[in-house]
Amino acid sequence: MTQRVLLWYRNDLRVADHEALHRAVGSGAQILPVYIDCCTPDRYELPGNPVIPGFRRKFRLESLRALDQQWRDWKSSLVVMTGDPAEVIPQLCAKYQINAVLLNAESSHDEARQYAQVAQQLQSANVACNVFHGAPLIHPDDLPFALRDLPDIFTQYRKIVEARLFVRACFPTPTAVQALPHTEALFEPHFPETIADVRSALPFHGGEPAGQARLHDYVWKSDQLRIYKETRNGLIGTDYSSKFSAWLAAGCISPRQVFHEVRRYESERVANDSTYWMIFELLWRDYFRLVMEKFGTALFSIDGISRRRTHRSWGRNAADFQAWVSGNTGNRFIDANMRELLLTGFMSNRGRQNVASYFVHELGLDWRLGAQYFEEALVDYDVYSNWGNWAYLAGVGNDPRENRRFNITRQADVYDPAGSYQKLWLD
Ligand SMILES: Cc1cc2nc3c(=O)[nH]c(=O)nc-3n(C[C@H](O)[C@H](O)[C@H](O)COP(=O)(O)OP(=O)(O)OC[C@H]3O[C@@H](n4cnc5c(N)ncnc54)[C@H](O)[C@@H]3O)c2cc1C
Repeated sequence: MTQRVLLWYRNDLRVADHEALHRAVGSGAQILPVYIDCCTPDRYELPGNPVIPGFRRKFRLESLRALDQQWRDWKSSLVVMTGDPAEVIPQLCAKYQINAVLLNAESSHDEARQYAQVAQQLQSANVACNVFHGAPLIHPDDLPFALRDLPDIFTQYRKIVEARLFVRACFPTPTAVQALPHTEALFEPHFPETIADVRSALPFHGGEPAGQARLHDYVWKSDQLRIYKETRNGLIGTDYSSKFSAWLAAGCISPRQVFHEVRRYESERVANDSTYWMIFELLWRDYFRLVMEKFGTALFSIDGISRRRTHRSWGRNAADFQAWVSGNTGNRFIDANMRELLLTGFMSNRGRQNVASYFVHELGLDWRLGAQYFEEALVDYDVYSNWGNWAYLAGVGNDPRENRRFNITRQADVYDPAGSYQKLWLD
């Protein structure tokens, strides 16, 4: 009997460098590609219930549409359903007589719990479940330590992995796929109303082709990779940093693809501090994934993973929170960054560090509310990087220093000396 495989897409919305797809094609199976649009429960209620534009949702829908188009080229279409995966996946398996479900691993609490529920249902229905690792740069089996021995400090981790850095090759894009015929409704996305802002540093669209185009443009065409280390603390425009994050978060591109493109650039053009630094940042991304895997939901608690009580009083003042969200704190550097986020769904790394520090240290608010707002607002929201960075800046994460307080005035002087960024968003 022909194998029938359900390919469960989550944060891996691509066809290139996709091991699950590659294996399914290699086995000669008929494939049913499925994405389930499920709302994860809110962890905290945000003070004042701010209205948050749907930039991330739009990017996600664009990514799904691009993926659907790819499957249509293969004479199929992406099945997009809403609901609880623990109900939807077993129903689809029964309806289409599926033998195996293939997916990429996620280790955050919600996704892991979701997977465990699905796996339990499938086991009782005698359907196999195969999990792959397409999201991190370094495959978990290639890490030179067990998860329980993950160093608590990034630099220690980095030195260990850099000493024998090995990144697996990318899986090729299948040229032909045997799609399983299905009768599900065609995917017709309803995009949220969002207004494109001409000042946006992220005027890009979701989807694998757009992500691949950006990778090519940034690395080869505009040659920005060459100067990444000097420009990466910038605040204005598309090119001071790669802007890969939104595609990485949705899985439209993989960190392995970025890595191997950087290596190719190093051998064909130049290897310098900038090319090193791009990979350095991808190691941060991996590190935060591992931290969440190791510590689980502790990362969402007020004391984070610091193993010590902070003994701080964390506020929840709604007026302060709203002023921060809407960019009305009175601090121009903070306000410019927060308005950019509200109006575009993006903010630079320099901006994120400053607004988080301001939130925690100047406003004295519960850091988790800031992280939760970012979770709602960021186009590139990634549970690991977001919560890991927030905990780090709040002094309850992976940082030997408890007090990571930024001098905001000094930061504005250094990174926005002429005030152009502040003028761009405030005047
Ligand atoms: C409070 C706070 C919250 C953040 N939340 C997120 C988030 O939800 N999603 C997210 O992708 N990044 C997050 N970051 C990390 C970083 O700000 C963004 O990855 C980066 O600004 C995205 O722009 P870029 O792709 O141009 O980055 P580049 O500077 O071009 O870096 C290349 C890639 O390296 C990775 N990277 C860079 N810096 C970091 C970092 N500090 N931590 C982890 N990975 C990094 C990203 O995948 C990024 O796309 C957060 C940082 C802070 C301080």
